[in-house]
Amino acid sequence: MPRSLQNGPHLLNANTITDVVEQERLGVYSQGYFKPGDKDMAVLRTGRSDTDLRSRLLRYVQNVEDAWDARGCSYFYIEYTSSIEETYRLECQLFHDFRPPNNSDHPPRPKDWPKTKRLTCPVAGCRYSKWPPLDD
Ligand SMILES: [Zn+2]
Repeated sequence: MPRSLQNGPHLLNANTITDVVEQERLGVYSQGYFKPGDKDMAVLRTGRSDTDLRSRLLRYVQNVEDAWDARGCSYFYIEYTSSIEETYRLECQLFHDFRPPNNSDHPPRPKDWPKTKRLTCPVAGCRYSKWPPLDD
């Protein structure tokens, strides 16, 4: 069973994001659409923010003309997290569960993450589950 996010579905637009997403929270999101009659969202993309989930989501909405990977998404779900490590691992889990068609690559480790501090993808068999990391 895919690990579905619980906070949603919310309409993917600037007003809703501002209303429902708290400022300066770490977290992950999924975006997609509902086929008629379906109660599960078809996930097109997943992602995270290590600093501010609301800003991250707003950026996609405001730049939707440029953000090719936001096309086709009209709803989103979120989940707050409490550490950068947890955020990364949860995004990896979502990526493997949903294989979102608009995500071209596996989630990257957090920017400037020290090579000495172990942080791996939690999905067995994934090349990013190895430590020390392969060149990526
Ligand atoms: Zn992985």
